[in-house]
Amino acid sequence: MNLFDVYPLFDITPVKAQGAYVWDETGKRYLDLYGGHAVISIGHSHPHYVKRIARQLYDIGFYSNSVQMPLQQELADKLGKLSGYDDYSLFLCNSGAEANENALKLASFHTGRKKVIAFKGAFHGRTSAAVAATDDPKLQAPINETDNIIFLPLNDINAFANALQVHGTELAAVIIEGIQGVGGVQIPDVTFMKALAAGCEKVGALLILDEVQSGYGRTGKFFAHQNKDVKPHLITMAKGMGNGFPVAGVLINPQIEAKHGMLGTTFGGNYLACVAALAVLEVMEQENLVQNAKNIGNWIMDVLRNMPGVKDVRGRGLMIGVELNQPCAPIRKQLLEEYGIFTGASSDKNTLRLLPPLCIGAREGKKFLVAFEEVLLKTVLQTA
Ligand code: PMP
Repeated sequence: MNLFDVYPLFDITPVKAQGAYVWDETGKRYLDLYGGHAVISIGHSHPHYVKRIARQLYDIGFYSNSVQMPLQQELADKLGKLSGYDDYSLFLCNSGAEANENALKLASFHTGRKKVIAFKGAFHGRTSAAVAATDDPKLQAPINETDNIIFLPLNDINAFANALQVHGTELAAVIIEGIQGVGGVQIPDVTFMKALAAGCEKVGALLILDEVQSGYGRTGKFFAHQNKDVKPHLITMAKGMGNGFPVAGVLINPQIEAKHGMLGTTFGGNYLACVAALAVLEVMEQENLVQNAKNIGNWIMDVLRNMPGVKDVRGRGLMIGVELNQPCAPIRKQLLEEYGIFTGASSDKNTLRLLPPLCIGAREGKKFLVAFEEVLLKTVLQTA
């Protein structure tokens, strides 16, 4: 049987991984600054995480949501405490797309409306409503209701005010990434987020914050867009939440009434998913990984800003976009082949992304910076 071709990025077959490193079948070691697309948060195969999941599997690995599962409450309590959103409720599901799909559905249930404002460059997943709100025409099938979505430029308060005037009474939600990831690490201003929150309040629409990529400590805060003046109605998370185990969630503001039966899933919040997510939070706390992401990330970004051929460096913590004066594909290829370093691309061909495990230290940061500067220098000197 042929495999459906999705999108291989590296011509490599990893067979083992530990912390921030991955080994292929020939025994060659790679430094992973891509984290399986921002998924590896506490590091590959962390011993505490492995033990926690293995032990749970010995006891009971799965039962559907038709039974009582105190582990789900334990996860909600810990997540509430560490994120600071303990007054919200948690709906557990399996992927980023599913979390956004459910958030959009809740907004539509709540308002009885179906128009959504999303932003240019946005990526929210590949299921029906989530993909419609994703700014990429080639991902849209005729079944996806793109007519319901209004795409606006990020950080343009006037465009938002105009759109509210035209569509306000039909608007179910505004959906925005905490920091745009696939779009090339674009950061919404705090003033813009405040304007979105106020605008939603005014017309009775819900503000959905997609923290699937930017959340779970990656940016040096639990969520990238944590601001006391902006209380999103719904916050979605996935990727780093399970460190590779598929688990996702929607945080629901207490103002929003989510009636029994509106949302559901067979696998969401199963025993293994809960212990994976709990183990991630435990390690993050024990190893102070959120602070580490901030410290290491700030240092890496500062050094990058002075490198040849670097046009712009955007990001927070360990979600970093490096915009070059040229396409980044050949640079990424050299980093991989000559230095054994994984990096990510973005929808902007000149911007590469760093989304490493949050446990990287000075050694990994230095290894990358030395290699990157060397590759950039070679490129700049060749083209000079
Ligand atoms: N939202 C954002 C911001 C993402 O970056 C992604 C994945 N790239 C998704 C949603 C979709 O997540 P998943 O692939 O788990 O469905």
